[in-house]
Amino acid sequence: MLQLPHTTVGLLIAYSVKSPIALPIALLSHFALDLIPHWDFFTNGKELFLWRKIAILTDFLLSVGIGLLYFKMVGYDPYQVFIGLGCCVMANLPDVLEIPYFLNWKNRLTTAVLKIQSFFHWRCCFPWGLLPQVLLVLWGVFLLFFVKR
Ligand SMILES: [Zn+2]
Repeated sequence: MLQLPHTTVGLLIAYSVKSPIALPIALLSHFALDLIPHWDFFTNGKELFLWRKIAILTDFLLSVGIGLLYFKMVGYDPYQVFIGLGCCVMANLPDVLEIPYFLNWKNRLTTAVLKIQSFFHWRCCFPWGLLPQVLLVLWGVFLLFFVKR
């Protein structure tokens, strides 16, 4: 799954739980979301073409953008920023741990991470695999920024 839906759900968890227990919940959310049939940049191949690099960078920048909006929404309160940032990291951590494997740094740890990730990934073709992620992000943005609490 792309970074943006993972980040959006991580922020939702941070905003809803508002305590350090949100961090492991955000980590678990990663695997739960990966169970949703989804398409990502590596569904049909692993080569780092230019379009993939641009798409990955765009996904990253959108994730940073929603994080910054979240920090503004919580008034840059250091505790809320810490929980929010921590949840963003934890919600994306399994994918980050996969990066060394794809950069040909293959060892027991990176191979184990890839096996765990592969167990949870339910891949789907484009565009149908993108649809649940778009809906998830829209739902998350609505809950985060448009529902008054
Ligand atoms: Zn994943």
